[in-house]
Amino acid sequence: MKVLEDIDLKPYTIFKIGGRARYFCEVDSSQEFKEAIRWAGKNNLQLFILGIGSNVLISDEGFSGLVIKNKLENIKIKNTDVYIGAGAPMARVVVETTKAGLSGFEWAIGIPGTIGGSIRGNAGCFGFETKDVLESVDVFDINKNTKYKIQNRNCNFGYRDSIFKHSPNLIIFSALLKLRKGNLQKSQEKISEYSKTRVASQDIGAQCAGCIFKNVLWSRRDLNKTDLIKKFPELKKFSNQKEIPVAFLIDDLGLKGTKIGNAQISRRHANYFINLGNARAQDVIMLIGLTKERIQNHYGILLEEEIHHISS
Ligand SMILES: Cc1cc2nc3c(=O)[nH]c(=O)nc-3n(C[C@H](O)[C@H](O)[C@H](O)COP(=O)(O)OP(=O)(O)OC[C@H]3O[C@@H](n4cnc5c(N)ncnc54)[C@H](O)[C@@H]3O)c2cc1C
Repeated sequence: MKVLEDIDLKPYTIFKIGGRARYFCEVDSSQEFKEAIRWAGKNNLQLFILGIGSNVLISDEGFSGLVIKNKLENIKIKNTDVYIGAGAPMARVVVETTKAGLSGFEWAIGIPGTIGGSIRGNAGCFGFETKDVLESVDVFDINKNTKYKIQNRNCNFGYRDSIFKHSPNLIIFSALLKLRKGNLQKSQEKISEYSKTRVASQDIGAQCAGCIFKNVLWSRRDLNKTDLIKKFPELKKFSNQKEIPVAFLIDDLGLKGTKIGNAQISRRHANYFINLGNARAQDVIMLIGLTKERIQNHYGILLEEEIHHISS
């Protein structure tokens, strides 16, 4: 494990935004991972685990602790069990499991993150979530200085939520997925279908961080579905769904295309903010603030962020 100093973090994120890390290292084995965690502890430094950087907004001031870039990418398949290093990209897991004749994970093809980041945020799309295929997670607990297994039922998964979001002491090292026997051709057709749908509706290849905000669940305690639909009949079309898409709310207020500095609300998918080139984290934060304020003032709905802000 080699610790580097003063590393620009922009290239390590899809947003291409953010300052520098005081310390940075890449780990490709659990031994190295543990060494890096202990090194940070010994030097009294804050830790930040980086996957592919597809769901983070790193501050312009950067991070004054140790960034550990997770490269534990091993994938081992035994019958329908898939053992994966937390740094494996979702798309690679889809390809490898499909090739092995397994089905159940095709939906994840377009999620540009790692398994670790996706377990933390219970990433999902097309009606599926990471928790649906997850059996257990192997974590390193910094507080207890030891590794152990957490079963799916104890991960407290919710919509874009898990125990890992609330317990930064738990670092995900690897995971076991349980898939089912499938048919290669059918899986390939599904993958192609999911990919086409994404291409048609999202800014593929753009410098962004996926959805900035969580969709608004009708089940939220602070919302009254009947009152909201009465006041805003345009929301009725979502009444049979679990949630109101935030992209609809942003679009409905005419905010698509709004720009602050070089950060812009996408014209294609209003819940994506795009870095048009050299945008600052501050631009994105102001755009987030403006969007929240407008939605709150009009609909009375407080938006919750899906992306993780990194600063120190
Ligand atoms: C174009 C685009 C499309 C997207 N589409 C979707 C979508 O359809 N559905 C969806 O849910 N998301 C989507 N996302 C968001 C993103 O890809 C997911 O949230 C993904 O799971 C993040 O993984 P990552 O490895 O990039 O995590 P990072 O962005 O690197 O990190 C995110 C958070 O996870 C933590 N983390 C990462 N690895 C670990 C680990 N091993 N242990 C503990 N904590 C860890 C980080 O510390 C950070 O807090 C999209 C993003 C983009 C850019």
